Amino acid sequence: MMQVPFLDLGAAYRALQPEIETALLQAARSGVYIGGGALQDFEQAFAAYSGSLHCVGTGNGLDALRLALMALDVGPGDEVIVPSNTFIATWLAVTQCGATLVPVEPDPSSHLITVDAIAAAITPRTRVILPVHLYGQPVDIDAITTLAREHGIRTIADAAQAHGARFDGQPIGGAFDLCTWSFYPSKNLGALGDGGAVTTNDPALAERVRLLGNYGSREKYRFEQAGINSRLDPLQAAILSVKLPWLDAWNARRQSIAARYQAALADSDWQLPQVSPRVSPVWHLFVVRHPQRERMQQALRERGINTLIHYPIPPHLQEAYQGQWPTEAFPVARQLASDILSLPIGPQLSDAHLNFVIDTLQTL
Ligand SMILES: *Cc1c(COP(=O)(O)O)cnc(C)c1O
Repeated sequence: MMQVPFLDLGAAYRALQPEIETALLQAARSGVYIGGGALQDFEQAFAAYSGSLHCVGTGNGLDALRLALMALDVGPGDEVIVPSNTFIATWLAVTQCGATLVPVEPDPSSHLITVDAIAAAITPRTRVILPVHLYGQPVDIDAITTLAREHGIRTIADAAQAHGARFDGQPIGGAFDLCTWSFYPSKNLGALGDGGAVTTNDPALAERVRLLGNYGSREKYRFEQAGINSRLDPLQAAILSVKLPWLDAWNARRQSIAARYQAALADSDWQLPQVSPRVSPVWHLFVVRHPQRERMQQALRERGINTLIHYPIPPHLQEAYQGQWPTEAFPVARQLASDILSLPIGPQLSDAHLNFVIDTLQTL
């Protein structure tokens, strides 16, 4: 029986195997294992690619979020507005800074938080609006930056799923005060291990992120701030530099797969994600909704098609946040968790597999 993987990371590696292995050997032989030219080269290339002036590599995407919040001095007593439906890292970064989470519900058709929901959640203690470009679709950057400016609130975007996405035709890395990225292996731009970055147009904020991620130190053995240790390895940076020139082509393949799903499922019981005409999503995930989600996922599995759920339990119902919100809180996030399904998508998904998935979906 044909087996369609949800995502084939092995195939992604093999696509660039000689180039990646050359870069790995070079990095291993360089004698420089923290910082150095390979890291600088990637940071410069990714800043340019993401439409920002500065990029600072971090150990992972969670630390990128924590460092962005730390760079804005977010701490106890500060409120940070986040989506009620996101990967838990967005929430953890806020609580790890000692700040207060203010989750807002998404629009269930786009899965994204809207400027109206954000505006309704602003209080005198709001310090930061932290939206997520979830599944690779940018939020309404224009409306959110305007709202934040009016209230004197800072903005951080969690772009862990949105490398290469555009808003009004522009890359998104410099749009908010700070933008955070993850290079976790399965992301649109993934390392062979953990990695992350913060991008910004503000040189002072970039400098603060770099300082805070390097023990609060600029100069060896002098510590100006109580920082953390979270840097992007030059080894991972070298791999990411090999992959970056391919990212637009990989995202284009994701976009053509998404277009196939959209056409095939247009008049069906599947509810498709609504996309704003102002954005070009990069479809980190293609998330559809179905009233009989469990039955559909099972039927697809029996036919060899692997799907996933992003995410099956909203953050406020996780054990980690037990007792902090009533179970009935955030009904939109709960509803989405119960009816969403992520279909196979990725640059290496073959036409044969895609056709099989589409044929199967149409006969279920
Ligand atoms: C992956 C992800 C993160 C965290 O990235 P890590 O590199 O795994 O720490 C944060 N936010 C979102 C939305 C993510 O998808």
